[in-house]
Amino acid sequence: FKDVHFGYDDYSVINGVSFTAKQGEITALIGPSGSGKSTMASLLMKRSKNYSGKIFIGEVDFNEISEKSVMENITYISHSSYIFKGTVRDNLLMAKADAKDEELWDVLKKTNLADFFKADNGLDFEIKEAGVNLSGGQKQRLSLARGLLHDSRFYIFDESTSNIDVESEEIILGQIKKLAKTKGILMISHRLANVVSSDKIFVLEKGHLKEEGTHEELLTMHGTYSMLWQTQQSLENMRGV
Ligand code: ADP
Ligand code: MG
Repeated sequence: FKDVHFGYDDYSVINGVSFTAKQGEITALIGPSGSGKSTMASLLMKRSKNYSGKIFIGEVDFNEISEKSVMENITYISHSSYIFKGTVRDNLLMAKADAKDEELWDVLKKTNLADFFKADNGLDFEIKEAGVNLSGGQKQRLSLARGLLHDSRFYIFDESTSNIDVESEEIILGQIKKLAKTKGILMISHRLANVVSSDKIFVLEKGHLKEEGTHEELLTMHGTYSMLWQTQQSLENMRGV
């Protein structure tokens, strides 16, 4: 992003943001609710348009890149990724229509779902409307499995580990780390514990980038990040996590 601005009518959401996310790295975007994180993802997915400033993918101006190419090269996985009524197979094939069963089992293994489905109809397991017969963590891991099947160069995880069990969170974070060896990752989170090991962390506040650095660098700045970190740490200690 180079000096990107975006808003709705008179209401500005992104105010002159410049940042770079690199292939082979985890770039984290953190900030309070409403600061514009998902809007940045939505710009990158071409769901939001009419921004000013410049967005580049490599050397190529984003305006020159088709929506089709964006869909092929960037995978967006959010906390509310859509799980629909149908079989596990149907839900996975959305990401890759011609995938063989073996590939489907492979991504289910990676996301620790294989045993659960194997015990109950396998790939023909019937998922009910909106995935009500799966837990939050299972739905999130199934979204991840679908994302992994859709082999792309760049992945955006938007609060992908929000409100789920610790085991699922660890599985997802582990897979993100593996992906980061070869792919570009933009990890959006309001929970700082998830971004500690990121290569670069950007702190967004009211559509402005306030701070950037690694976890250690940001702590020594004694700014927004270190304040959020201290608050979240003491909350987790209180809960005994
Ligand atoms: P975050 O992901 O950091 O919580 P968002 O990017 O979702 O924040 O939202 C940033 C701001 O943009 C919020 O104030 C939100 O209300 C506003 N916003 C998001 N989508 C729309 C929309 N479709 N129309 C108007 N305002 C919107
Ligand atoms: Mg959001």
